[in-house]
Amino acid sequence: MDAKISLGEPRVLVSRQALLHNASVVRRAVGPGVKICAMIKADAYGHGADIVADTLANFSTRRYEAPLVDALAVASIDEAERLPHTILPVYIFRPVENCFLGRQRSRIEQAIRNGWIMTLCSSSAADDVARIATSIGKRAAIQLMVDTGMTRSGVTGEELGGLLDTIEAHASLKLVGLCTHFACAEDLGNAATAEQLQLFNAATDAVAPRLKNKVIRHAANSAALFLRPETHLDMVRPGIALYGVDPSLAPSSERLLKPVMKWTAPLVQIHDVKAGAMVGYGQTWRATRDTRIGIVPVGYADGYPRCLTNRGVMVVQGQACPVAGRISMDLTTIDLVNAPHAVLGDEVIVLDSDPLSPASVYELARLASTIPYEITSGIGQRIHRVPIEIEQGVPA
Ligand SMILES: *Cc1c(COP(=O)(O)O)cnc(C)c1O
Repeated sequence: MDAKISLGEPRVLVSRQALLHNASVVRRAVGPGVKICAMIKADAYGHGADIVADTLANFSTRRYEAPLVDALAVASIDEAERLPHTILPVYIFRPVENCFLGRQRSRIEQAIRNGWIMTLCSSSAADDVARIATSIGKRAAIQLMVDTGMTRSGVTGEELGGLLDTIEAHASLKLVGLCTHFACAEDLGNAATAEQLQLFNAATDAVAPRLKNKVIRHAANSAALFLRPETHLDMVRPGIALYGVDPSLAPSSERLLKPVMKWTAPLVQIHDVKAGAMVGYGQTWRATRDTRIGIVPVGYADGYPRCLTNRGVMVVQGQACPVAGRISMDLTTIDLVNAPHAVLGDEVIVLDSDPLSPASVYELARLASTIPYEITSGIGQRIHRVPIEIEQGVPA
């Protein structure tokens, strides 16, 4: 018989239910009066921005008639263009620079026409955006980033007044927001966050009397919104928490966030090997006993970090199966000694949604000496993102 059976393909499963749960945890933390801006940059930290936007902003179930969040945010205009249509405000956080260079001008036109809120940090960029807006007969919605200690994007508190002078000189610019970003919000013992907040409040209070319309002030990322209520201001900007990863970067019994992502792949081949067999490039792994080696169609080109060679763990039939040998571009080999009944086509959990699993995002990040953000946002475009629909009667 020649019939080919399909063993399935690697997938990132995205739980809509977990997303809604995490959004409601954030809502409870900030109360009803504070807006929530969902950070869905970098393809929603690798979860699929279309699925996440649809779930948080557009999706309506019998339980949630209104969007669970008040705004969406991405890094670039390109990312905004790829979002499904939404009635919510869309913020673009990477500051606008060099508008007249190359394709940038038409992108900015596009952003203005769509009413997306662009971030400005310089008078020259403000002049450029204003000119583009005027040329198409529209007003551009903008926000200003104040740098209070990251030394990344933004103007200092002292420079804010000067930038506002430029903005006010242009009728085609509409200021809607003022924001800053914390460097150390997850570190409760660190005084930097309080200092940053104080600088931001002082800078924005100083310019408040001259603002013509209501301007939204916002600062808090996931860590700040849970740990420091005084940072909530008018809006919070959770990213990682919405994806169910605790901002302390370890599972927390306090907040009970639910990881949204589960990355699976089929077991596509099994080799029975004798003690002494060598596995993979460089033959870095040697069987110390007779065992079975499973082949998983996921490699470093898919974002499974190559440094997990001989360190990573995947889960098969509920059992931890260590990575055996070097991770290659498209494939990974695992030792099935703990899963003796594994068969072809079995689901291999590459990254588990159970926060206590040996293949949890926390554990993968720890083994790879990085943070969960880098693991999930690094998962490649070859892996399909598949939404898991909401079962009857949930979420809690
Ligand atoms: C990514 C980002 C956030 C979200 O941070 P999390 O730690 O994921 O909550 C908030 N604000 C800005 C400006 C960001 O770039």
